[in-house]
Amino acid sequence: MKTIKVMMRFPASQTDKPVTSYLVRDYNLVFNILQAQIHPGMRGELTMELTGSEEDLANGIAFLRGEHIEVVVVSRSIVWDCDSCVHCGACTAVCPSAALSLGSDGLLSFDESKCVLCELCVKSCPLSVMAVNYTEN
Ligand code: SF4
Ligand code: SF4
Repeated sequence: MKTIKVMMRFPASQTDKPVTSYLVRDYNLVFNILQAQIHPGMRGELTMELTGSEEDLANGIAFLRGEHIEVVVVSRSIVWDCDSCVHCGACTAVCPSAALSLGSDGLLSFDESKCVLCELCVKSCPLSVMAVNYTEN
C-alpha cells in the first residue's frame, strides 16, 4: 500500500460528479480530503491523500483524467515566514517532534528534517506564519 497526495482541478462541468465515491467503490482507494474549493457549476480544486496499491492508484488517476479532471501528484511541506514570526513559542508547545524550538536567545528555529508534517503548528500559530505548501512533482 502507498499513500500519495494529489491536487485535482475540476472543470465546471464535472464539479457535481461524486468522483471520490467512484475511487472508493471501483478502485479500492481510501481518500482523505486536505483542502477543497468545490462549488457546483464552477471550476473547482480539491487536494487529498489517496491510499491504495500502486495498480489501484494508477487506475484511479487514469479514471479521473478520463473524466477531464486535471490530476497532479504533489509534495507537502511546512513553510515558516520567519520575518513575520514574533517568537512567542506557542508552536513549540504542540510540535511533537521538536522540529520547532526556542533557542537560548529566545528565537524560534525550525529544523525541517525533524518535521513529521502533522500541521499542529499551523493551527496553533496566532499570526498564521506557519503554512502548508504544496508543490507539484
Ligand atoms: S506560534 Fe507563530 S509567531 Fe509564535 S513562535 Fe511559532 S511561528 Fe512564531
Ligand atoms: S508540522 Fe508538526 S512536526 Fe512539523 S513543525 Fe509543525 S508541529 Fe512540528
